[in-house]
Amino acid sequence: MINYTERITRLMHDVVARTPALSFIDLREVLVFGRYGRPEAEGAFATCHCLTLPESEPGYYFWRDRDTGELTRRSEWFVTKTPEVRRDGTRIKYLISFVLPRFCEQTLERSWKAELYGDVDPWVAKLDTIVHELYHIDPAATGIRQVLHADGTRARGTHAPEFYDNVAAMTKQYLASRPEAELFDFLACDFAELHRRYGGVMATTFRNFPSFPQRYMERAALPVETGAGVKIEPLKRPGQPSLYTERDLHVRQFTGAAARRVTEPFSLQQSA
Ligand SMILES: [Zn+2]
Repeated sequence: MINYTERITRLMHDVVARTPALSFIDLREVLVFGRYGRPEAEGAFATCHCLTLPESEPGYYFWRDRDTGELTRRSEWFVTKTPEVRRDGTRIKYLISFVLPRFCEQTLERSWKAELYGDVDPWVAKLDTIVHELYHIDPAATGIRQVLHADGTRARGTHAPEFYDNVAAMTKQYLASRPEAELFDFLACDFAELHRRYGGVMATTFRNFPSFPQRYMERAALPVETGAGVKIEPLKRPGQPSLYTERDLHVRQFTGAAARRVTEPFSLQQSA
């Protein structure tokens, strides 16, 4: 079977080495994992998740009576935190997830991105997505890269048109640098072709699949002052660990319809 996330990680090392604008990225601090998503369903092909966002200020939920506006219920105080992810002792700063098998079917055909590329093979859409997610890694290490307009004001959202243009330019420049075809030829295969060629597709996932490290709420020890008759809603305990390590990484085989855990003899993904 092909380990899809391992292959993407290996390709990322080459992309980062050959792309000056991405050369600041330390891929030891990036972990690539698979999420399940059907090709025919709407949704992202891949996502860059930042693990460096600080803990939030304390807050709480509250409910008011619709007629009187009186406070009727409130939650305990909580802060929102990012779980820590460590692999072999190194703190992971970004997770990049690929949605399988949907990502394997991505193509420039019938995509608006085709106009950014002109005459290239349709599978280059997948390389574009890989570069796109790497480009979200912020050189200032403050989270997800913000795009500045030429006049220096901050673009709304993270996807100004310049973002896509820059990604396409880096993708074309990478291909023009004559990388080894062996590093990216798997991108030319759709999911069915990967099955024919490799006998199956597997990917790194987290133990609590389909979940993965995400921001969570934790109770904050602050006094709760309320008037009479206000009900206090206790917070649910976080449904996920506050620390993930390499022991929480499971390799799963992705089929068209599901993902199941792969045990021996396959080894866990390691970054190069
Ligand atoms: Zn994006």
